[in-house]
Amino acid sequence: MGPLQAVSLLVAPPLCAACGRTCRAEAVICTRCSRSLAAERPLLTGGPQGIDSAWSSASHEGVARSLVGALKFRRLLPVAELMSDRIHWLAPGHLLGGTVVPVPPAPPRLRSRGFDPAGELAAALASRLGADLSPCLARRGLGHQVGHGRADRIARPPQIEPTGEAPRSVLLVDDVLTTGATLTSCAMALRSAGAKRVVALTFTRRL
Ligand SMILES: [Zn+2]
Repeated sequence: MGPLQAVSLLVAPPLCAACGRTCRAEAVICTRCSRSLAAERPLLTGGPQGIDSAWSSASHEGVARSLVGALKFRRLLPVAELMSDRIHWLAPGHLLGGTVVPVPPAPPRLRSRGFDPAGELAAALASRLGADLSPCLARRGLGHQVGHGRADRIARPPQIEPTGEAPRSVLLVDDVLTTGATLTSCAMALRSAGAKRVVALTFTRRL
């Protein structure tokens, strides 16, 4: 990078990670998107199978959906901090005890992206909560769900296995809850490795 490019980076106004408009220097998203996100209501249910409680900070729409895309496809890591802040502030306290375990990425996906959105979100959340982080799950085979239809994903859940002993009480973290098939596979693997309680926390949920 030349000196002129460096200067232009310093003076260029920051852009909102959700809508791309200019926003305050220290902000990840603009005021308008912040207001829109603040109006979103969290979702809490008992399922999917194997999961004691599943909590999501917002439905998979609007600003929340844009942020998931910004983390997953544009690798905007400050977005993981923003997501974890929101989960930390909004999730009921009785759900938040335990060790944070990220939903494991499919190996080919991890290789092609070079980083792991669920892993980044889980690490940021563990830091916020002062909780331990235990990446104790791995996927076998391709396990690649992008491009498959919803029915396909339910029929062919990803194969997930423990890489060691699982924590007794788990906060299982992913960016999006879609069919629940992945969370169920994770929960089965965790319980086979000693987990007694599995709470799923996701930033968004597709309804
Ligand atoms: Zn915005």
